[in-house]
Amino acid sequence: MRGVAVDPRRGDNSRMTTTPRIPCRSCLRPPQTCYCAEIRPFSHPAKFVILQHPREARHGLGSGRMAHLCLKDSELIRGFEFGEDPRFLELLNDESRQPLALYPGPQATVVNEANRDTLRESWAHRPPTVFLIDGTWPQAKKMFRVTPQLQVMPWIAFETDRRSQYKFRLQPDPLCLSTIEAVHELIDALDRFDVCHPTPDGAHQNLVDVFKSMNDTQLRYINDPALSGYRRGPYRPMNELVPAKRWQGRPILFRSDDSRDRPTP
Ligand SMILES: [Zn+2]
Repeated sequence: MRGVAVDPRRGDNSRMTTTPRIPCRSCLRPPQTCYCAEIRPFSHPAKFVILQHPREARHGLGSGRMAHLCLKDSELIRGFEFGEDPRFLELLNDESRQPLALYPGPQATVVNEANRDTLRESWAHRPPTVFLIDGTWPQAKKMFRVTPQLQVMPWIAFETDRRSQYKFRLQPDPLCLSTIEAVHELIDALDRFDVCHPTPDGAHQNLVDVFKSMNDTQLRYINDPALSGYRRGPYRPMNELVPAKRWQGRPILFRSDDSRDRPTP
């Protein structure tokens, strides 16, 4: 098989070299950009189930798989409509856990001081399975629409002022976070408000570390003329890019202010 280099601007689709390369079986990245050595898998009382849109699965710089590899006991299910997916239904009907969707909205329970005791008490008896969508905003909205179970299960959300560290996928809004950043923010909020904690303590930092490392690696490839991903000409900083219509909602999941009536900055 003849491999292709990754153009970080365009995912895995652009042919830049004919150097043979076999993708890593775990992260599915080419060996030069495999991030598996950075991963420190950790446990969490919540079981995370990442519902990955098929198009997101093909995106070389997506972070859903990365989150899955960091979180022990997490699952990644690829698909669009999950209403009749046997594994989804099995997880949904697991009586030892309570299903929750990580999704912002007025009906979502926000992890904060006011909800801490309720969450802690409820989860102590029945820890959650947290379903989250790995896809663009339009994809996520459609996936919710066609999977009624996601609409009716309780939703959970967090508040954050954190800005996405994505350097290669334009965010429709500065407060939109990638999938792995959204998982980190949820775990961090649960930790800060003393609802539950990762094992070992503070292990969720690995989520942002691996993500940053992937971004740094891509930058290195873009900036080094000796490497196959070299990009001629300066790379425009993300904050100078203007979202084109086709990028709307492109990456990914979370606007922290969707659960409150806060104006978009
Ligand atoms: Zn790998």
